[in-house]
Amino acid sequence: MTRHWAAVIGDPVAHSLSPRIFHAWRDATKRKLHYWAVKVPAAALAQAVKSARERSWAGWNVTLPHKVAIMAELDSLDASAKAAGAVNVVRFQKGGCTGFNTDVDGFLAPLSKMRFPLKGRNAVVLGAGGAARAVCAALRKASIGDCLVLSRNPARAEVLTDVFGVRCDSMDSNVVEKAVSDADIVVNATPLGLDGITSPLAPGLRWKRDALAYDLVYRPLRTPFLEHAEEAGVARLGGLPMLVAQAAASWRLWFGEDVPAPAVAAVEQELTGALQ
Ligand code: NAP
Repeated sequence: MTRHWAAVIGDPVAHSLSPRIFHAWRDATKRKLHYWAVKVPAAALAQAVKSARERSWAGWNVTLPHKVAIMAELDSLDASAKAAGAVNVVRFQKGGCTGFNTDVDGFLAPLSKMRFPLKGRNAVVLGAGGAARAVCAALRKASIGDCLVLSRNPARAEVLTDVFGVRCDSMDSNVVEKAVSDADIVVNATPLGLDGITSPLAPGLRWKRDALAYDLVYRPLRTPFLEHAEEAGVARLGGLPMLVAQAAASWRLWFGEDVPAPAVAAVEQELTGALQ
C-alpha cells in the first residue's frame, strides 16, 4: 500500500486535535499515513508550499494564521474555498495543489444529522471573522431565509454583506437581545468561551422555543454560551462534530473515499471523553 504524508500546518499548532483524529482513522483503516502537526510561521508559508510540492504530500489541513494567506500560494481554488474566502484543506497532486474549504460542509453536517431545518429560517451569527465567513457561505448554501451577522467591528461584517447578502449590526446588548429572540439558530463564531468564562451573550435572554444554539468553540465542550442556552431550555450543539466532519471531508479529498462511519463516531466519542 502506498505511503502518504499529511499534516496540519499553522502557528501555533501544538494544540491541534487533528493528529489525534487522523491517527485514529489511520489505525482504523490500516492506511499507511504519516500525519504531523507542523509549525509554519507566516514568513515561511510560501517556501513550505514550494517544498511540499517537491516532496509529494497528500495534503494539509490549514489552521490560523494561514487560511487566507495560503490562497495566493496555490495553483487553484475549489469553489468551496472561493465561496468561503479561505482555505482549510490543501490537496497536492501531480497537476498542482488545490485549496478547498471543508468548514462549510463541516458546519452543515451535524445540522443535517440532527435534521435541523435551515431553509427559509432566521439565523444570527456572532462574529465576522474567518469562521463566520464559512458559516455565512454554509447558511446561504442551505437556503437560509435571513442571516444577521452581529459584530463588534462593523467594517469586517460589511464585507460579509457584500459577499453573501447578509444583514449586519453591532453587538450592542439591545441589538443582541432582539436578534436572539427572533432567531431559529444562533451561531457563536467568536472565540468567546475558549477560556470557559466569557460568552458573546448575556444570561437570561429570551429565545424562540425551538431555536438552536450552535457554538463553534469545541474546547471546552461546555461553554458559557451553551450554558446560557441550556438555562433558556433550547437545543444546543458544540463545535466538536463540525471539527470532526471537516476532517472527514479532507480525508475524502485526499484519498477519494469516506472514513468508515464507525471510525468517525469513535473519534468523536474519544474526543468528547478527552475534552470533558
Ligand atoms: P477570527 O478570524 O479571529 O474571527 C473571530 C471573530 O470574533 C472576529 O469577528 C472578532 O472580532 C470576534 N471577536 C473576537 N473577540 C471578541 C470579543 N471579545 N467580543 C466580540 N467579538 C470578538 O477567528 P475564526 O477563525 O473566525 O474562529 C472563531 C472561533 O471559531 C474560534 O474559537 C475557532 O476555534 C472556532 N472555529 C471552530 C471550528 C470547528 O471546526 N468547530 C472551525 C473554525 C473555527 P474582530 O474582527 O473585531 O477582531
